[in-house]
Amino acid sequence: MARRKQSEPVATDLCVYRDRGLYVPGLDCWLDSSKPRRRGFISHAHTDHYAAHETIFCTPETADMLALVKPFEEELPPIRPLYLGRTIEHGDLQVTLLPSGHILGAAMMHVTRGGESLLYSGDVRPSGSATTPPAQVVPADHLIVEDTFGALDEEFVGAEEGAARVVEFCRKCRARNRTPILVTTSNCGKAQEMVVALGQAGLAVALQSKIWHFTRLYERHGIPVSGYTRLRKDEWPDADAVIVTRAYLEHDDLTDRVPRPTYALVSGWAASDEANDFDAAIPWSDHASREELLAFIEAVNPRLVWTFAGEGHLLPELRAAGRDAVHLEAC
Ligand SMILES: [Zn+2]
Repeated sequence: MARRKQSEPVATDLCVYRDRGLYVPGLDCWLDSSKPRRRGFISHAHTDHYAAHETIFCTPETADMLALVKPFEEELPPIRPLYLGRTIEHGDLQVTLLPSGHILGAAMMHVTRGGESLLYSGDVRPSGSATTPPAQVVPADHLIVEDTFGALDEEFVGAEEGAARVVEFCRKCRARNRTPILVTTSNCGKAQEMVVALGQAGLAVALQSKIWHFTRLYERHGIPVSGYTRLRKDEWPDADAVIVTRAYLEHDDLTDRVPRPTYALVSGWAASDEANDFDAAIPWSDHASREELLAFIEAVNPRLVWTFAGEGHLLPELRAAGRDAVHLEAC
């Protein structure tokens, strides 16, 4: 196989890496651009994927969640919903959104023209969870995939084991008259997966306000969340456990209204040194682990792998396996 030279621009007829972003000329559309563009595809409703494009393309679930993601003082731009599994024709392009297994509404974009194909994964978790179907793997000539946890050798626990460990941690805390505080990275995704698990175990949970809003939205989309209330600043929470984000803990550690708080980090970062700041760590992620990323890439079997996020840690292993790969800086 002819290797691309480092100096070659990263581009195909289907997608171009330029201006620190990914652009699909055939759609006149940017993929998860951090800068506002004329037309932008937003793969899912995590804050770092939002920008106020003139027109936004995303799934209906993501569209609903973006109202909670955008800056409070801004209007939500016009949104054109695209449905998972439904192929649209645009000129000579066929475009299909496929589940990525990351969070509710998260989508990969598969683009084909003639015999050439490209898969943009966004953030991906091939195995899925109780709140999102597994990623739908399709072959593609070009795969643009995240490298978020490419540097971590540790395996993550699957969604079922993650849920069981969260419930076990909470029960052990309660048995020792401690209050379990489950700490996550984002307001949506893992937090709601934990709400499902705790509800099924008959444990009541109090949620930081933003997580509570997202959880109500998950419920409206049919996700079986139950037994949750809203954590309030001036009230003792009437619950068996509390869920907050790491950012929340920076200004409120809950010690004024929770007896003997005990903190568990529930995140992919729980497999890193960051676990040392917490009483317990459960490496349950809504992203793929390094091993899962490599298996996902093998299954898609692309001619060229483009990685983003992380620092290109997957490249040496991909190249050693004979696969052409490039890392996109600052994408
Ligand atoms: Zn994400």
